[in-house]
Amino acid sequence: MAMKRLLVLLSLPLFCCAQNPQVNISLGPKSIFFDSSYKKDAVEAFKIASDILNSSAFQDAIKKSSFVYPNHCLTCKILDERSDHHFFGQTVLDSLYKHNVASLNLDLEENEPKGALGSTCPYWDNEDTISRANYQAIYIDMKELPFKYRLAVNLCHEYMHYIGFCHPDAIDRQPDDDTPAPIAYRDDVAYKAGWVAYFIAVKMANGAGK
Ligand SMILES: [Zn+2]
Repeated sequence: MAMKRLLVLLSLPLFCCAQNPQVNISLGPKSIFFDSSYKKDAVEAFKIASDILNSSAFQDAIKKSSFVYPNHCLTCKILDERSDHHFFGQTVLDSLYKHNVASLNLDLEENEPKGALGSTCPYWDNEDTISRANYQAIYIDMKELPFKYRLAVNLCHEYMHYIGFCHPDAIDRQPDDDTPAPIAYRDDVAYKAGWVAYFIAVKMANGAGK
């Protein structure tokens, strides 16, 4: 009996724990910082972003969603509007884990504290693999989070652009700073991914004791 139990235990790892798909995103060697002291935060932000994108909470939230077709980018500036049907969140996850390693060159700029937190073109239209981030706009957003978590949330959003999802045209307004805009939260891949990442980051940051 004891031997049988041992055999069962030994065979468990083969069958019990199918691993979630993974992606590992990291800071590219050509990254630029308006202040080099933020490089350390950026390295950690990429690790946090990878952990968020690989979490069951992120995968479950995206899997349950569906999005309007024109989230698909043809180029950085042109949406694919050939269909107005919805597609399932699994399509997003398939794109997310298709290339499981990516290095992005972050350009952390200090622009006006308003407007978009960042911008990134899809990988087929992004020769230098650049993701731009506006430190000031990120700094006044998500104030309860340490900066590296704020940057990580932004990277999760930007990475959706990198894998080929642009913002569809119809974006509504947020009722307040802490509540997502309802239509965008429903229809827009990058917007939804950013908010889901934010909710996860708040829990992670609290667990990590800031
Ligand atoms: Zn965006």
